[in-house]
Amino acid sequence: MELLIATRNAKKLEEIRELLKDLNIIVTSLAQYKDLPEIIEDGRTFEENAVIKACTIALYTKKLVLGEDSGLEVKALNNRPGIFTARYAGEGATDKKNNQKLLRELEGVPLKKRGAHYRCAAALADAQGLIGVVSGNCQGLIGLSLKGYFGFGYDPLFVIKKYNKSFAELGPLVKHKMSHRYRALKKARVIIEKYLDKKS
Ligand code: IMP
Repeated sequence: MELLIATRNAKKLEEIRELLKDLNIIVTSLAQYKDLPEIIEDGRTFEENAVIKACTIALYTKKLVLGEDSGLEVKALNNRPGIFTARYAGEGATDKKNNQKLLRELEGVPLKKRGAHYRCAAALADAQGLIGVVSGNCQGLIGLSLKGYFGFGYDPLFVIKKYNKSFAELGPLVKHKMSHRYRALKKARVIIEKYLDKKS
């Protein structure tokens, strides 16, 4: 069976593929489809946006679809950027611009006050509608400078206390065992397995 991931973010897709690799499914993405409806991400939470992504694409394609919405909440910024994480430095902002803005906004804030969470919500839907929504968090600190080259987005700034290293330094072997996406997809996997059982 096919599982269509409602994303155009190649890095995110790569991580999702890796995290679901031992399921008996063919993982596709929006890049393989033409003339899809626009996804209007106007939810107020990561969960709402994940549901919007999954349902918009599932109702149109009639496929089993996973919608994923994720982002960063920084305590010292009253949990911003939150659902606006991808466009923190403006519409279509690059990772570099977003990271620069985050460092600017946290200038003068000591490391122990730079606590943050990555959050990930994943929703599953098919032609009949929503099947389930799950979420996962990962705790860290926003580093004082960019470190490492693995991953994407804010990974060079997202420091895991236990290792005193950023996700971009730690790489996928560590990230995929503790990330917000790993934790959400571990729960999503249970829903997918039940769905596959029912359909077989
Ligand atoms: P979305 O595509 O609207 O869910 O945007 C999520 C944004 O959050 C991404 O563009 C990244 O900037 C950030 N983000 C989410 N997950 C991660 C991650 O695992 N590493 C780094 N940045 C992330």
